Formats: sequence, structure tokens, C-alpha cells
Amino acid sequence: MSNVPVMSTADCSEAKGNYLDMSNSQLEALTQKLWKQYEEYVSLGLDLDLSRGKPGRAQLDTVTGMLDVISTAEDCRSISGLDCRNYGQLDGIPEAKQLFSDLLGIPSKNIIVGGNSSLNLMYDAMARAMLYGVYGSPRPWCRCGKIKFLCPAPGYDRHFMICQSLGIEMITVAMTPTGPDMDAIEALVTQDPQIKGVWCCPKYSNPDGITYSNEVVTRFAKLKPAASDFRIFWDNAYAVHDLYKDDRDELLDIFKECEKYGNEDMVFYFASTSKISFPGSGVAIFAGSDNNIKQICDIMTIQTIGHDKINQIRHVKYFKNAENILKHMSVLADIIRPKFELTLKILEDNLNGTGTARWTNPKGGYFISLYTLDGCARRTYDLALKAGVKLTAAGATYPYGNDLHDSNIRLAPTFPANDELALAMKILTVCVKIAAIEKIVSER
Ligand code: PLP
Repeated sequence: MSNVPVMSTADCSEAKGNYLDMSNSQLEALTQKLWKQYEEYVSLGLDLDLSRGKPGRAQLDTVTGMLDVISTAEDCRSISGLDCRNYGQLDGIPEAKQLFSDLLGIPSKNIIVGGNSSLNLMYDAMARAMLYGVYGSPRPWCRCGKIKFLCPAPGYDRHFMICQSLGIEMITVAMTPTGPDMDAIEALVTQDPQIKGVWCCPKYSNPDGITYSNEVVTRFAKLKPAASDFRIFWDNAYAVHDLYKDDRDELLDIFKECEKYGNEDMVFYFASTSKISFPGSGVAIFAGSDNNIKQICDIMTIQTIGHDKINQIRHVKYFKNAENILKHMSVLADIIRPKFELTLKILEDNLNGTGTARWTNPKGGYFISLYTLDGCARRTYDLALKAGVKLTAAGATYPYGNDLHDSNIRLAPTFPANDELALAMKILTVCVKIAAIEKIVSER
């Protein structure tokens, strides 16, 4: 337990009922109670953080044994006979490729095992496309005039930052409960050759926790983009990050679907062990068609002689096989699940029926999306910050930081201790309600 004060303040259970149905005088009485409660929180000078999609310490402790599996020169010898202490093997050691192949169901020849971060691989893939083009590009993307990317949103802010930093125009596409709005995506990509790609986080998406339905995956695989060198950036960051053993989302295999339509070159696939082993010290992969792998390796060979193979072999020696990774993920799920459940319970206990917010209830991944009333996310964020609760900045989950509805707030429950999480969530619900009442009253 961390040093979080135990609050005696009762929650506003008297405030049940939809706020939109309340009279101004009822809301006035309610708002006074909420402000009193809020000021009490402010006076505590708290420093709580719900913004970081990072594993908590208990999660990291489950893989500490990984630090001991490499201690001799012999430990560093790959099955191919390669000494992992030395240069070589640009696309990764064979046993690491096999491990990811077994885990993700992708042939090992179609996998490049990279360094410590899939985000890094995504940035490199985009930068390489800008500088050289992708397989089949008539010219580098930077010589194609103003190019554009589709950005299903809310989404992962760092995807959007890559586009922004490289001057790629972002087109926001709405997320639905089954994935991105495919009608919009199909219409856009067939019309506009300047649209070179789309960002996807297809399983337990950041931040909604949505898994794309079979229909959505198939429609992606069938796309007929006007740009002949269009790429789907398929960031499967949460591929094996299920919270429930018997109730997990299944994601259709994008490569197998694409093959059916002759579109296997259209996918750039990314994943990593960041939230399996150590974030920042895990192993990341790129996967693609034979043509994509060859084009990328030919360029990558100029960029590097190879990635950190000692870390690759460390992961292989520690996990041994894909089945053990899945067993390990269920150990992690036992740590993470109570945090998700606690977060959801506090949302339900304090906001259910008030009409002030809705939220997602993911079966995996790292995030819960909270949607305030339109126009209330920034105000909620500011109130929470002043009360010592740091949230992911309102708007960050949209291209250019622009949430047109000013509604989405990403909640990251994994990092804080449970008592800190509970307190932060209670404070947040008070802020959501204050912001909602302000809006309701101002619009009457
Ligand atoms: N992709 C998504 C969707 C993420 O949410 C994250 C981290 O939060 C990453 C990628 C980063 O992965 P990595 O540590 O492999 O760079």
C-alpha cells in the first residue's frame, strides 16, 4: 500500500438520477456538495497519475528472472551457431523469429526481429517510406506532394505524432464499437491517391480497448486504394494481452485475409514484448510480405548491422516457447484485471445513471476510454489536475490533439497502486460531474 490518505468523504450517492433531468435548484444543491468534496481533495496536495500506460511494479517483478538467463558465452550461442555477442543476423536470430511466429501465427520468414521498441520500427517504416518509398512505390512518399494518412480516432497519440512530425496530413476517421468506420475508409482510399496509409491498433485498441470485428478486418484486406503503394500500419501491440481466460477477443489474421484478395503487400505489421517483459527493454518485430521484407532488409542493411541479439536470445531462453508466453500473460492478467475492475466499479458506483459520462469495458489491453458529455473533457482534465490527478491530456487521442467533441479521456489503470488508483478515480468522477453540471446549466 502506498501513502494515500483514506478519505472519509461520502460519495455523492444522493446524486443518483440523470443530471439532465434535474432542475437548476437540484443541480445547484448538488454542485455545492461536489465542490466541497473537490476542495477537500485539493487540500490534500495529492500527486496521482492515471496517464501512463505502463506496467506496475508487480508486473515487472514477474519477469525479473529474465535477468539471470544469460551468464555465459555458451548462453549466447544461437541454434544457427551464431554467437549473439557479435555482429550479424540483420533480421533477428532464428529462434526469436520462430518464437514470434508461433505466438502470432506468422511465418518466420515474414518476420524481422528488431530492437527494443515497436514504435521505433513504426517510425522507421514511415521515415523509410518517405525517403525511399515502399515496395512498389513509383517514387519516395516525400516526392509525392502532400501525402495523407487515415487516423481512426480516438487512437494512439504517438502514431499521430509520427505523421505530424513528418508533415503527413492526418484525416480523422471515427471509431465504432467494431473498429474504424469502414464506409468512410473505403470511400476515402478509393478516391484519393494522396492517401498512402492508415493507422490501426486492431486488438484491444488504445484507448477504447476495441477489437476489430471479422467484417472490419476483411474489409481492410479487400481495400482497393487509389494509391498503388498504400499501406495498413497494423500495430498489434496488444495481441496476447487478454484480461479474461475464458472471454477473450479473437482477431482475424490480416495476412491470411489479404492473401485472399491478392493484397498481401498492403500490410506492415508491428508488435513487441514491451508489455510482456520489460517496456523499453523488450523485443519488437516487424512482419510483412516477402516483397516488403526484402525491400526493407535491403535498406535496413545500410542502417544497421543488426539489433540486440543478446536481448533476443535472453527472451527466447527465458520463455522457451509461445505457450509459456501465454501462461505468463495470464499471470499478468491476474495482476491487471483487479485494477480494471476497480476502475470500472468506481465509474459505475459514481457515474452510472447520471448521464454525465460513458466508458468502455475492454476485455484486454491497457486502457479504458472515458467519454464525458461533449465539451467537458478539457474542463474535467483541468479540474483533475488541480486536485492532483494527472490524466492523459484531453484531445491527445485525436490527430492534432483535436477532439471535436471534447469528450474522450484515456484512463490507464495499470501503473498506480490499487489504493492510489481508487482515490484518483473517485476524484475523477467528482470532476466529471462538476464539469457536466457546469455545461448543463450554461446551456439552459
Ligand atoms: N503501440 C501501441 C498501440 C501502444 O499503446 C504502445 C504503448 O503504449 C506502443 C505501440 C509502444 O510499444 P513499444 O514499447 O514496443 O514501442
